[in-house]
Amino acid sequence: MKILMASSEAVPFAKTGGLADAVSALSLALAARGHDVRIMLPRYYGIDTRDLRKLEGELGVPMGGGEEWCAVYSAVLPGSSKKNPVPVYFVDHEHFFGRDGIYGSSGETDFLDNPRRFTFFCRAVFQVCRKIRWTPDILHAHDWPAALAPVFLKFWERPLGPEGEFAKTASVLTVHNLGYQGIYGKENFFYTNLGWDVFYRAGFEDGNMMNFLKAGLYSADRLNTVSPTYARETQTQAQGFRLDGVLRYRSDHYTGILNGIDTKVWNPKTDRLIPQTYSVDNMAGKAAAKAALQKTFGLPVDADIPVFGMVTRLTGQKGVGELFGPAYGSAWSICRDMKVQLVLLGSGEAWCENEIKSLTSRLPNFRARIGYDEAGSHLIEAGSDFFLMPSRWEPCGLNQMYSLVYGALPVVRNTGGLADTVENYHQETGSGTGFLFDDLTPAAIYNTVGWAAWAWYNRRKHIEAMRARGMKRNFSWTESAKQYLAMYADACSMPNLVGQHNFVGPPNKVGL
Ligand code: ADP
Repeated sequence: MKILMASSEAVPFAKTGGLADAVSALSLALAARGHDVRIMLPRYYGIDTRDLRKLEGELGVPMGGGEEWCAVYSAVLPGSSKKNPVPVYFVDHEHFFGRDGIYGSSGETDFLDNPRRFTFFCRAVFQVCRKIRWTPDILHAHDWPAALAPVFLKFWERPLGPEGEFAKTASVLTVHNLGYQGIYGKENFFYTNLGWDVFYRAGFEDGNMMNFLKAGLYSADRLNTVSPTYARETQTQAQGFRLDGVLRYRSDHYTGILNGIDTKVWNPKTDRLIPQTYSVDNMAGKAAAKAALQKTFGLPVDADIPVFGMVTRLTGQKGVGELFGPAYGSAWSICRDMKVQLVLLGSGEAWCENEIKSLTSRLPNFRARIGYDEAGSHLIEAGSDFFLMPSRWEPCGLNQMYSLVYGALPVVRNTGGLADTVENYHQETGSGTGFLFDDLTPAAIYNTVGWAAWAWYNRRKHIEAMRARGMKRNFSWTESAKQYLAMYADACSMPNLVGQHNFVGPPNKVGL
């Protein structure tokens, strides 16, 4: 199969979050199975053109009644084999991408011209394919910045009829986080070159604004998100970010496929960032990591006290309000009442960073490092006995999977990918791989941490068995890649791909 990934991020070229890891890892897993996978990215200022190959000639991209000209560079995705290389194409446009930052900079969190920048990128995807004379069977777009690519396929390319290059291309849109939709003033619709009838037919309309992701959700042939539970939750009003109606409407073609993890980087048997490697049969390295973690963070080195670890962005999504909210957060009472140690690595909202700093000065068993630290995150996974992740919503979540394979039992909220990867402890039988709670309240976090600490002190055999169970879990991308291939095959098998543009959706009311 010829598969094109259209994305605003892919490691190692551009990353702000899990999207970048997922796009590259999925591409590599698909290529390893013999498919012709290629990635398309904007050429951000931070990507050095001296490491890239420039394709001959310039490229014209229809935009807003005129044309924008750009250059195209290429590289091979690191990690792909000689036999199945994954080419990456970069669209280079000085005015749109020749600046620091991907979506914004420190002075401007969301660039004012983002709708224009990413409309351009999505339109350029087709022009690059024409330039390299390569037509994908599947156009796989990721998140709102690439969501207009399926729209252009349906409302621009397919209407060219059976002779058009993309007449047989099917599209897939993956939602990595429904919280980000790309909502902008509708005057920006001008840049798409699409008619105003398409504004309504493609579902761009969002109140008096235009919504990139919503148009993509209406227009792509198949949709998915990154865990089965999150796919169900996003179809409810509570978790649907106002797009639950659209997702319910598309529910026949909307699934959840769990992300994998990078098993080369996150594997306690080979990890070079921890003091000593370990495995389920030889746990000496885990004890060494726990001692190192306690020492590094300035806590008493004591193998008998359970260590609860956290590595997180300090933002509302991650449940930090319920943990660290001044006066009501449960972290303070957990550390005051229980014989446990709490270790945190994270950065984010200023109020939360300040609150954490103030708590560490008042609690002898809570230590934190504010910042981003790759090695620190490995040490916390390896050295902790439990891993705390009380997320409000979690499309997939990586840290709980790392925790399972590193033998740190996840204490997590029963939501999204957390619900799909962690099995709740059963006190009678000892089954399970972690501790789950439903309500996001300080009391629920307090009680569940207390439950885990109780099991640590009173049911150590259960803890050890759960640990072994978790460490044997396999979260590689191979399984996810198989599910994506099944979705691609399903998308390609649609009768009469050409003519799909005649489809007229329901009235485009938000929250339908
Ligand atoms: P999200 O993508 O919503 O932040 P995930 O659990 O899916 O949450 O992935 C977060 C990733 O970022 C993990 O790999 C985690 O280890 C890493 N991470 C988050 N904060 C930090 C930090 N302060 N230092 C090091 N790594 C971090």
